[in-house]
Amino acid sequence: MKIKKFSKKPLDLESRIGAKPIVCYPNSNIEDDSLIILHKARENLIKKEEITIAPRDAKIFEVKTGDFFRIESIEGPQVGDLNLFQSNNLDEKFYSGKTRALYGTHLSVGDKMYSSFPYLRSLATITWDTLDWYDYDEDGGSVHDVIGTRCDPYTSKLLTGKDYHYCCHSNLTRALVKEKNLDIKEAEKIIHDVLNVFMCTGFTNDTKQYFMKSSPVRPGDYLEFFAETDLLGILSACPGGDCGSGHSSDEAKCYPLKVSTWSVNEKYLKDIKPSIISSYNKKHGLD
Ligand SMILES: [Zn+2]
Repeated sequence: MKIKKFSKKPLDLESRIGAKPIVCYPNSNIEDDSLIILHKARENLIKKEEITIAPRDAKIFEVKTGDFFRIESIEGPQVGDLNLFQSNNLDEKFYSGKTRALYGTHLSVGDKMYSSFPYLRSLATITWDTLDWYDYDEDGGSVHDVIGTRCDPYTSKLLTGKDYHYCCHSNLTRALVKEKNLDIKEAEKIIHDVLNVFMCTGFTNDTKQYFMKSSPVRPGDYLEFFAETDLLGILSACPGGDCGSGHSSDEAKCYPLKVSTWSVNEKYLKDIKPSIISSYNKKHGLD
């Protein structure tokens, strides 16, 4: 935060300020025409499976390369915290920070969910968003952010002094332990910063602090993805419910979420290019 200022302004202030912002990672080089193909393909989706995630809990789901999946609001406004892994190599996981650097604070249709180093490729492309009409509101808020990490028991303990076991971080960890038989330490280490599905967030104008407000999501709304590799997903139904008041407690009204997987005849995907891991030679200047 930039509230406390102890240093004097320099005499050459005028020459140090007012530079024009330049986008750090212009993303036009990674734009492709896959969305046109995927939008045609999604008109022919066939439902495979669906699971329901109970409030304040998380579940694992698997999606095959070339299939689609949807995260759907079913009974009431509810936020979901999503982790994504390459299902055969859990070391390759969603990289929220780099995805944010490429696409901005909130994701929507056409944005790709990039994986961690040294892989850095698209794990999934967002193909449909029934909330894309929300855009950015007058507070600079929007839905589906990649700025808010995930609610967790450590920050909660730091700020309130209380132990709470149903934050998204714990829900995601518990799902890996229960459904993948991972040791709790191993599981907790690979849980990563999430895509905050349906959550409405932004930064305050004055202090630039992370804020949340009641999500505009309603039953029937969904966010849809195309899987570019075999995926293991974990979705937590956040204890904050619609995140309009608090989180990290049992106080908010919470609802379940649905995850469904969908296939499409491969003839619709024949022009989709495979998502390939980074070809950087990994020498880092050391020969
Ligand atoms: Zn949460």
